[in-house]
Amino acid sequence: MEPFIRSDQYNFIKLQLRNLIGGHASVNDIDVLKALDSLAAEKSVNVFEDLTAEQQQILEPISSIRDKTEAAEYLAGLKEYVIPFWHVTDMTVKKLFPKAKKLKLPPLDAMDLKETTYIGWDDIGSGRKFLIVPYENKLIGLSGTYSSISQRGLCHICSRFSDVGMFMTEKKGPVQDTFIKRGNYICQDSLKCNSSITSLDKLNDFVGRLK
Ligand SMILES: [Zn+2]
Repeated sequence: MEPFIRSDQYNFIKLQLRNLIGGHASVNDIDVLKALDSLAAEKSVNVFEDLTAEQQQILEPISSIRDKTEAAEYLAGLKEYVIPFWHVTDMTVKKLFPKAKKLKLPPLDAMDLKETTYIGWDDIGSGRKFLIVPYENKLIGLSGTYSSISQRGLCHICSRFSDVGMFMTEKKGPVQDTFIKRGNYICQDSLKCNSSITSLDKLNDFVGRLK
């Protein structure tokens, strides 16, 4: 079967399982537990627009998972159906960021492409952050200055509280030689950010406003 699960949907299912296991570890009431079981399954199915009967079958075990070991086993098997991130090379980077000379890709082999919704990395030399994000069926390159703040804050991509910094982009304004600056707080650590993304809404919104 073709992979049909996006990385954010995989994370969403992971989160449902975490809640489910937490429930079974702390609640004794059978009815409450039953409700938790069906809620976890229902929510997981509902993140997909439509599923074939075969795909539904793959999600079916969710409601019967009870502990960490079962969840880890199930998630490991489920990974077979996760769509990996797009194939990206140094050539892709050159195309997406034509102005950034000698910009190198982050080490992709250190990343799990099935747990990647976007690629983000820092170019220490220029003090900029670079993002490669799928948007409306193609890859978009975003770059901006990045400055960490000493507080934790809400990330505009994954919507979690984490160590964030200000990602500031500039685009041409309506009047010649004017620029519009836009800033958003996003996670410093793009790998952690990726593992927290459980929906594409914020990310699409973020890219839509900056592009
Ligand atoms: Zn984040």
